[in-house]
Amino acid sequence: MATTGEPSFRQSVDLMFNRAARLMDLSPGLEEKIRVCNSTYTVRFGVRLRGKIETFVGYRSVHSEHMEPVKGGIRYDMAVNQDEVEALAALMTYKCALVEAPFGGSKGGLCVDPRQWDEHELEQITRRFAYELIKRDLIHPAQNVPAPDMGTGEREMAWIADQFARMNTTEINAKACVTGKPPHAGGIQGRVEATGRGVQFALREFFRHKDDAALARLSGDLGGKRIVVQGLGNVGYHAAKFLSEDDGAVITAIIERDGALVDDKGLKVEEVRQWIRKHGTVKGYPEATFVEDGASVLEKDCDILLPAAMEGVIHKGNADRIRARLIIEAANGPITFGADEILRKKGVLIIPDMYANAGGVTVSYFEWVKNLSHIRFGRMQRRAEESRSRLLVEELERLSSDKGLGWTLATDFKEKFLQGSDELMLVRSGLDDTMRTAYQSMREVWHSRNDVEDLRVAAYIVAISRVAATYRSKGL
Ligand code: NAD
Repeated sequence: MATTGEPSFRQSVDLMFNRAARLMDLSPGLEEKIRVCNSTYTVRFGVRLRGKIETFVGYRSVHSEHMEPVKGGIRYDMAVNQDEVEALAALMTYKCALVEAPFGGSKGGLCVDPRQWDEHELEQITRRFAYELIKRDLIHPAQNVPAPDMGTGEREMAWIADQFARMNTTEINAKACVTGKPPHAGGIQGRVEATGRGVQFALREFFRHKDDAALARLSGDLGGKRIVVQGLGNVGYHAAKFLSEDDGAVITAIIERDGALVDDKGLKVEEVRQWIRKHGTVKGYPEATFVEDGASVLEKDCDILLPAAMEGVIHKGNADRIRARLIIEAANGPITFGADEILRKKGVLIIPDMYANAGGVTVSYFEWVKNLSHIRFGRMQRRAEESRSRLLVEELERLSSDKGLGWTLATDFKEKFLQGSDELMLVRSGLDDTMRTAYQSMREVWHSRNDVEDLRVAAYIVAISRVAATYRSKGL
C-alpha cells in the first residue's frame, strides 16, 4: 500500500525502533541483538485439491526468544511475504514486552486467499501447514504459540490445536499450543472480541488523561467523537461496535476493500456487518452514502481515525491530507515511517499499534494460562464471592428492617452486586487493567523526558528496556 520509494514494512519497524534506541543507553551489540529477527522458516508444501496438487508458501518467523514460548498470529493473505512476517514478528516482541505478556515475538503467514477455497479445502490446507510447523516445534505449547490474525479465526485455530493433539498424543498441555480457539475447544471467553475491546479500553484510558487529549486538540470523553474505521473484520468490527454502543462515539465512515460507507449521523455497525455477511460487500447498503474510492475516505475530517485493516495504508502519498486529530493504530503498521514523520509535524497524535492492538495477545496470554492450568477462570471463586455478597445484602436488609430504617437496595444494584465474576468478567477486567497499566508506563516515559516526542517512541523505550533487562539477566 505504501508509495514506492518508502522503506519496506520491516525497515519501517526497524527505523521506528532506531528512533527510540538512539535515546537509550544500550550496550554495544545488545541493540543489534534486540532489533534483528532470529530466524524465519519458509515452507512450500503441496495439497491435492480439486484434482490437482496446489503448492502453498508459508512462513513462521521468530524475532526474539528472550522469553519462551514465542507468540504471534498466523495470517492468511495472498500478499504475505517474508518481510511482512518479520516486521510483524518484531512488533510482537515489543508488544508482549509492553503489556507484560511473558512471551518472545513470532509471526506466521500463508500465501492463500481464504475466500477462494471452501471450508473443507481450507481445513486440509491449514492442517498441512500446521503439520509442517509442528514437526519443527514452530507450534508448541512451550516454544511457539500462534493465534489468529488477518484471514484466520477460531476455526483455523481449532484445526491447528487438533492437528497438534493428533501428532502429540501424550502431551497433556496440547491445547496450549495455540490461542484464539473457540471456547468449546479450549478457548477462553472474550478472545474473539479482545483486540477490539482492547482498542476501546486504550481510547478510554487516553481520554482519562485530559492533558494528553488536549495535545490532540480533543476534550471530554468518547461520547459524540466522530470516528472513521478502516476494515470491518475482527478488530475493526468489535472496536467500532463497542465504541458506538458503549461509549456513544459516532462511526461516520467504514472503509472496506471494495469502497466506503459514509454517514455523518452515524452508521449502525451491527447492521453494516450483517449486510457484508449477506452480500459479501459494502456496496448497495441502503442507509449510507457509498464511496467507490474507499481509501480516499481515510482523509475525511474526523476526531479519531481507526485503521483496522492492514499495514501501509497511510503513507507519504496521503499523510499530508489526513484530517484526523488522533489516529489509533488498531491494525499492525498502518502508518509508514515516512507518513509517521509527516503526521507528527502536522500535530496528529498517534496511539501506536504495539499498544493499541495488544488486547489480542493479552487475552491470548490468559487463554494459554487457562490451558496450562486446566481450569476455567472463576470456577473456584465465583459462587464463594456470591455467597459472601449475599451475606452482606441480607445483613443490611435485616438491619434496615430491625431498626425500622426503611432502606431498600436498588434492584439493579443488588443484581450486579450479587453476581460473582465469571470468566468473561475476569478476562475483561484483566484486559482493562493491562491496557491502563501499559498506557501509564508509556505516558510516564513520554512526559518525563524532554527528548521523547511521541507515544510511539515512548512505547518502544518501555518495550526495549524490558527486553534488554531480560537479556542482561541472562548474562548477555
Ligand atoms: P480480518 O481479516 O478479520 O479483517 C480485516 C478486514 O479488513 C476485512 O474486513 C477486510 O475486508 C478489510 N480489508 C482488507 N484490506 C483492506 C483495504 N485495503 N481497505 C479496507 N479494508 C480492507 O483481520 P483482523 O484480525 O481484524 O486484523 C486486522 C489488523 O489487525 C491486521 O493488521 C492484524 O495484524 C491486526 N491485529 C489483529 C489481531 C487479532 O486478534 N485478530 C490482533 C492484533 C492485531
